[in-house]
Amino acid sequence: MAEKWTPDSWRSKPIVQVPDYPDKEALADVESRLASYPPLVFAGEARKLKAQLADVAEGRGFLLQGGDCAESFAEHHADHIRDFFRAFLQMAVALTYGAQQPVVKVGRIAGQFAKPRSSNIEKKDGIELPSYRGDIINGIEFNEESRIPDPERQVKAYRQSAATLNLLRAFAQGGFANLDHVHQWMLGFVKDSPQAHRYQEMADRISDALSFMRACGIDPDNTPQLRSTEFFTSHEALLLGYEEALTRIDSTTGECYATSGHMLWIGDRTRQLDHAHVEFFRGIKNPIGLKCGPSLDPEDLIKLIDVLNPENEAGRLTLITRFGHDKVFEHLPAMVRAVEREGKKVVWSCDPMHGNTITANGYKTRPFERILREVEAFFAVHRAEGTHAGGVHVEMTGRNVTECTGGARALSAEQLGDRYHTHCDPRLNADQALELAFTIAENLRK
Ligand code: PEP
Ligand code: MN
Repeated sequence: MAEKWTPDSWRSKPIVQVPDYPDKEALADVESRLASYPPLVFAGEARKLKAQLADVAEGRGFLLQGGDCAESFAEHHADHIRDFFRAFLQMAVALTYGAQQPVVKVGRIAGQFAKPRSSNIEKKDGIELPSYRGDIINGIEFNEESRIPDPERQVKAYRQSAATLNLLRAFAQGGFANLDHVHQWMLGFVKDSPQAHRYQEMADRISDALSFMRACGIDPDNTPQLRSTEFFTSHEALLLGYEEALTRIDSTTGECYATSGHMLWIGDRTRQLDHAHVEFFRGIKNPIGLKCGPSLDPEDLIKLIDVLNPENEAGRLTLITRFGHDKVFEHLPAMVRAVEREGKKVVWSCDPMHGNTITANGYKTRPFERILREVEAFFAVHRAEGTHAGGVHVEMTGRNVTECTGGARALSAEQLGDRYHTHCDPRLNADQALELAFTIAENLRK
């Protein structure tokens, strides 16, 4: 693996989970057009995120990463983006209060389109078709035509990402994210929650802190840190042709950065040491994530860390563990010990979603209690090992969907059909997401 890295050196490695485009010329044409388009993010922003994650790795911050499992072309509306951002910011405020530390905010958004699948084939009513792989690759409609990988979709995904990012930047900087507003939204959530008694005390304390600051002359409207927020984007960099086209040399450092998002991660299905995804990731300088599931041996993890972060730079690598609610104690302690033994600097983040997917009433769902249990087990292990439980990675939306069962409103399997809108995995709705944040905030206070 000491061979020379180039943005296209992944092409000579084995690769899994990528589509076989029938029209190679059209694909090459799209990739060269994308390579001529402006970057979506700047290298300097990715470096800033890396510096903030370095603080998290050192125990001085908490990472909140979340958004759709898969963004879609059909749901590209301003109100979806606004509702997501509103729920996400409320989570961040609860976590900031809980951690008494800065919360690094990273969305699974503005580029989260390509999906790895457990099967290449989907079956319905006796008909077999190639699986849906995300709107950047093929269509979700269950017919032959829509399942053919179409390279033009990459251009559409690029343009949608640019528009989404533009609105998010406006929201983050333009006054929407003002701490006073976020807190008012949160009070609305608490008032309406069947669990209000649990959250009221924390909400009141935040109210008191804000009143105290105001009395001291700190007005959120005139204080940049309270009037605006810093927000970063991330996605699973699965479709490497697209990522390569958007990889650019940063003029200030001469180094290569993926400019499709600030932070990219490697999925649990594409983390083979000698394969294309690890090859691509080792050369880009962005902060990166690595999904760590139950099949990852701790010693193999160390080998991956050596390749992905040879300089042991804090903030470069976030390990996103996703075992399943009943497997955390079996797997996480050994991983933490191996990483500690080798003195590797990482951010530990918990994805309580992907190990907890079941089928109920014909729907893919995730019981909220299992999500909570995985998060609590993650905190318990880090407390026992003396390491920093650094973050959480969730699939969520700002809308009132019915995709995960349970939560304060005790969503039942029978209700899943009411508003089941996801294009891929089941997401927490706004109330469930905030409930999770309050629970984590309570854990952080322990
Ligand atoms: C995902 O994050 O949507 C995903 C597919 O996760 P994982 O790689 O952990 O299975
Ligand atoms: Mn998912």
